[in-house]
Amino acid sequence: MQFSYEQHRIIGGIGADDEYWRALEQGEFKLPRCSGCGQWTWPAHYRCGVCGSWEFVWTPLEPVGTVYAWTRTCYAFERVKERAADVPYVTVLAEIPAAGNARVMGILQGSEENLRIGAAVRGLILPPSEKSKHYPSIQWTLEAHR
Ligand SMILES: [Zn+2]
Repeated sequence: MQFSYEQHRIIGGIGADDEYWRALEQGEFKLPRCSGCGQWTWPAHYRCGVCGSWEFVWTPLEPVGTVYAWTRTCYAFERVKERAADVPYVTVLAEIPAAGNARVMGILQGSEENLRIGAAVRGLILPPSEKSKHYPSIQWTLEAHR
């Protein structure tokens, strides 16, 4: 099944983050930065909350950050039944210092050793799959001690 960005909009998104998904599909990690004042705006919006500009530059970033928060899922919830076989799994909210500390969510892949708030993580971009409901996704892996 091919993911449709129009479908995403119908499901509940407002479309301001379409470029995030398009970039991920192409293996790039991009977040929006206001053309007017430089403010990073994530989650994406059509208008800058600081200066009112409607223009954003989708800026390529290296997918590196630190763990802002994490949670372990120990139950196969119906809404994410595609991940039932992975239970228990950890979801990380990673803070991206190069993007004004924007926070980007993803599943933790690999070892949980050293999982703690502030731990360094690196993102791995994955193509759309059944598990990610046909969206491209970013998975975080813990970097060696830093
Ligand atoms: Zn602005």
